[in-house]
Amino acid sequence: MPDYPFEMGPIRPVDEADSLLIRTTRGCPWNRCEFCSLYRDLKFSMRPVEEIKADILAARDYFNGHPFETCFLQDGDSFVMKTRDIIEILTCLKSAFPSLKRISSYGRAQTMVKKSPGAMKEICNAGLNKLYCGMESGSEKVLKQVKKGITPDSIIRSARMAGEAGMETTQFIILGLGGRELSRDHALETARVLNQAAPDQIRLLTIGVKEGSGLDKQMAKGQFILPSETGMIQEQRLLLENLTGITSHYANHHGIDLLNEVRGQLPHDKETMLAILDRFLNMSEPARNNFILGRRLGYYRRLSDMDNSLTREFVGKQLKKLRESGEDLETIFHSLRKQVV
Ligand code: SF4
Repeated sequence: MPDYPFEMGPIRPVDEADSLLIRTTRGCPWNRCEFCSLYRDLKFSMRPVEEIKADILAARDYFNGHPFETCFLQDGDSFVMKTRDIIEILTCLKSAFPSLKRISSYGRAQTMVKKSPGAMKEICNAGLNKLYCGMESGSEKVLKQVKKGITPDSIIRSARMAGEAGMETTQFIILGLGGRELSRDHALETARVLNQAAPDQIRLLTIGVKEGSGLDKQMAKGQFILPSETGMIQEQRLLLENLTGITSHYANHHGIDLLNEVRGQLPHDKETMLAILDRFLNMSEPARNNFILGRRLGYYRRLSDMDNSLTREFVGKQLKKLRESGEDLETIFHSLRKQVV
């Protein structure tokens, strides 16, 4: 990464690859989710408005007239800032980069619901018109188990408030987050909450438990058992099947997702997407394992890539070796998945 004359946080959403990045807060004000170690060693702080504005001007000079159309505000939650401070930053940003059409941020449900509908509208009118929300699950039990610190009710209320203010919203869901025990509840409750939150986009991520995370410790104690790869596709099928009455764009769009080709506009593409999930689920177990291993090793991108008999045979040989080594296949699949996150 170049040595920028302004501060940069560690991450941005996949869709913000070409965006200007401006850091408004450092770390995450919650920082307790059992599956997340992103900001574990970083104490949360809000940056002074004057410092952020100085960064915006430094970025303007550095990029020297680059016509950015999108900007993402880093890190974990810009809504902890006072409304007037957010507006001051957005005003400065739009004046320094007049070509901006979209300014986005992460939005944490529990923080957003503390703003009034009027404040949300003012923030949107000042330029913050897109939110990435990590609801992860709509199941109260799952949200509690992973210490997410938000409730289904706050997810729905915050999403509706953002939508009514004119903001576009993306909700992230983590497949497998309920473990084997809560898989069904995770799928059904997530569908129920999404149907009410009606986000513009739904983005699926498949779980990869990071070493040292709270969930990793729960796994070591046997309190959390990861669903199998096939189990998570069944979970996704149940979730997708129960999404009704919404027009969100639905996508598996991260490298960690098994079936990246499952993406489309609801409700139009729902049956096509379900058919892809069914195609995988209806395969024999050896064929499913061949696809999973090939996908996790980067030989396959989509199910039809298995039609190449040479690749399929090659992956089959690797699968055979792994079977003969006596290692548990699901453990291997998970460790390959973890390398992607
Ligand atoms: S998942 Fe989001 S809210 Fe939870 S600790 Fe990580 S950054 Fe914070």
